[in-house]
Amino acid sequence: MGRTVVTGAAGFLASYVCDRLLDEGHEVIGLDNFITGRSENVRLLSEHPKFQFIEQDVSLPFQIEGEVDYVLHLASPASPPDFRKIPFETLRAGSFATHVTLELAHEKAARFLLASTSEIYGDPPAEHHPQKEEYWGNVNPNGARSVYDEAKRYAEAVTMAYQREYGLETRIVRIFNTYGPRMRADDGRVVTNFIAQALQGEPLTLYGDGTQTRSFCYATDTAEGIVRLLLSDEGEPVNIGNPDEFTVRELGETILELTGSDSEFITVPLPYADDPKQRRPDISKARRVLGWEPTIKLREGLRPTIDYLRGEVLLKR
Ligand code: NAD
Ligand code: UDP
Repeated sequence: MGRTVVTGAAGFLASYVCDRLLDEGHEVIGLDNFITGRSENVRLLSEHPKFQFIEQDVSLPFQIEGEVDYVLHLASPASPPDFRKIPFETLRAGSFATHVTLELAHEKAARFLLASTSEIYGDPPAEHHPQKEEYWGNVNPNGARSVYDEAKRYAEAVTMAYQREYGLETRIVRIFNTYGPRMRADDGRVVTNFIAQALQGEPLTLYGDGTQTRSFCYATDTAEGIVRLLLSDEGEPVNIGNPDEFTVRELGETILELTGSDSEFITVPLPYADDPKQRRPDISKARRVLGWEPTIKLREGLRPTIDYLRGEVLLKR
């Protein structure tokens, strides 16, 4: 339990992390500038008496009155179409905002947690599949995805520098593809695109041939892993994700089946030349040091996600 600052609190994943922290008894101060977030997430969290919200761009310096025990930096555009639209904001969220939030943690002698990503592994070759924390990655330093990938790699470097130089207690979670209710129907990620397309009877857009793989983790599982890491003694990066791996086409087929849609696939060119071909977390470390593993299978997690997005899609009509 503690007084906890969470950046990106209007976002999809942070809203689950805030829920989990509030359940644990923390007092949570959420910050967000709504660049990719939703006021609805803040409205839901604000029903809790221990949640407070401050509208703030966290790449600019800010003050928090009083003691702080934990700082979680989750603010960053995270969907590939978002970081293509707002490249400089994405770079700032990984760079300046990581400095600003580390400084806050340092000043308050608080524990700091960085939301890093599987993207720091880039497009891994077969010998690094599944991805272990020891793998250093295969990232294009200046390609279209680099504004996100390199900013997050920089964020990890500056976080470890604060740990080494100042003895700051830091945690780094490498999050793999996470999905669930509260995602924006138009966020452009594969799960939301396919569900929205299936529900509207539109073709499902397969980028490339659909043989690329991803491993999808349900949001409450990811949030549980993040909070366990925060409260653990582990100062080195830890993968959090679901090791069940699917091709993008298989994901689409499952969504067609669960929605009962008769949409078909269409193939469109890959928007990124460096789109990772395969991705699956090795979660042996999370199992060992956190006693954590995901509990929700893809089909089970897709059902409430489809129900939620059905409401969102209907609202937009
Ligand atoms: P999201 O876009 O829903 O949430 C990000 C939030 O950060 C938004 O509310 C946005 O408004 C806010 N934000 C961005 N820049 C900001 C700034 N300068 N100041 C204040 N607020 C700012 O994305 P998400 O999927 O919930 O991702 C949350 C975090 O988890 C990100 O750091 C992302 O890199 C990481 N992550 C997510 C996934 C995933 O699959 N969802 C995978 C890997 C890593
Ligand atoms: N993708 C797709 N159709 C879509 C959206 C995405 O085939 O409408 C593919 C994309 O090329 C990638 C995978 O699905 O290979 C996952 O994409 P997403 O944007 O969800 O996240 P990423 O893992 O690439 O960050």
